Amino acid sequence: MGILSAIGVTKLRESLSKTRTTVVGKISRLVTTRRTVDDDFLTELEEILIGADVGVDTTTDIVEGLRARAHAERYGSSEELLALVKDEMRLHLSAGNNGNGGTHAPETTPHVIMVVGINGVGKTTTIGKLAHGYVREGKSVYIGAADTFRAAANEQLEIWASRAGATIIRQQQGSDPAAVAFDTVRSAAAHNADVVIIDTAGRLHTKINLMEELRKIRRVIEKVAAGAPHEVLLVIDASTGQNGLQQAKQFGQAVGVTGLVLSKLDGTAKGGVVLAISKALNLPVKYVGVGEGIDDLQPFDRDAFIDAMFAQAGEG
Ligand code: GDP
Ligand code: GDP
Ligand code: MG
Repeated sequence: MGILSAIGVTKLRESLSKTRTTVVGKISRLVTTRRTVDDDFLTELEEILIGADVGVDTTTDIVEGLRARAHAERYGSSEELLALVKDEMRLHLSAGNNGNGGTHAPETTPHVIMVVGINGVGKTTTIGKLAHGYVREGKSVYIGAADTFRAAANEQLEIWASRAGATIIRQQQGSDPAAVAFDTVRSAAAHNADVVIIDTAGRLHTKINLMEELRKIRRVIEKVAAGAPHEVLLVIDASTGQNGLQQAKQFGQAVGVTGLVLSKLDGTAKGGVVLAISKALNLPVKYVGVGEGIDDLQPFDRDAFIDAMFAQAGEG
C-alpha cells in the first residue's frame, strides 16, 4: 500500500471521470468563457461547488482565497487561471490531510484496525482489499468477522480472506460481535500476527443502541491488546454527499474514528465531497476505493487526487 504506481494513477483518473466531467468540466468552461476573476466569475464558481456538494464552508474558503489571490497574482491565459483555481481547491479541499493516506507500518503488533460505517458502503470489500495489500507486503493478517448480524456476512468475508491470504476468525450468525473481536485479537496475538482487521455490521449512525454495540466492540479490543484499536476507519460511499458529514460526526463520537476511506469513487460525480468532510472534521482520508476488485484500493494521495480530478482528456 505504498505510493501510487503509474497503473494506480491511471485507475484513479478513470475513477474520477464522472467527477471530472461534471464539476471540473464546468469549472474549465467557466474559466474559458469568463477569463477574469470578477464577481460574476466567483458567483458562478460558488454555484458549481455548492452543486457538487463541496459544502458551504469549503466553497466560501475557495472562493475567498481565489478573490484575494486573483488580485495579488498575475494570470494571463485561461490555463494559468485554471491553475490558480486548481491550486486554491488543493489548499482548501485538503486541509486536515497530511497529504498521504495509507496506514502506517505496524509499530506494535498486532496492529488492530476496526472498520465501521453504514450498510452497503463497502466495509467488507475494503477489508478484503486492505488485507491483500498487507499480505503482499509480507504481513500476516487476521480478519475478525464481527458482522454477525447479516446473513451471509461470514461467507462474503471468507471469500475475501481467502483471496487475500488472510486468516478469518468467525462465529455463528447472531453471536456477540464483541466476542468475535475478542477472539480475533487474542488469536492474532497468540500467533504473532502483524495486522488485525475487524469487520463490523453496517448500522445507521442515528441508531443509538447499535452505536453502543460498536462502543462495546471497541472496549473489548482495548482490553485485549494495549493501545488497540490503533485505527478506526470509517468507510463512506463517495456518492453520499454531505450526508457523509453527519455519519462521520456520529461514528466519530461513538468510536473515535481516526481516518476515512472513500469508497466507490468510480461510481460518482461527487468525488470532491470527501475532501470537504475530511476538512470539516479534521480527519485524514486514508484510502480511496476505485472499483470492486482486490487491487482497487489506493492510499489517498492529496496531490494525485486533485491532479486526477483535473486531468485533461487524453492524459489518462
Ligand atoms: P458493506 O455492507 O459496507 O460491508 O459493503 P460491501 O463491502 O458488502 O460492499 C457493498 C457493494 O459495494 C458491493 O457490491 C461491492 O462490490 C461494492 N463496492 C465496494 N467498494 C467499491 C468501490 O470502490 N467501487 C465500486 N464500484 N463498488 C464497490
Ligand atoms: P459486557 O458483556 O457488557 O459485560 O462487557 P465486557 O466488556 O465484559 O465484554 C464484552 C464482550 O466481549 C462479552 O460479552 C464477551 O462476548 C466478550 N468477552 C469479554 N471477555 C471475554 C473473554 O474472556 N473471552 C471471550 N471469549 N469473550 C470475552
Ligand atoms: Mg459488510
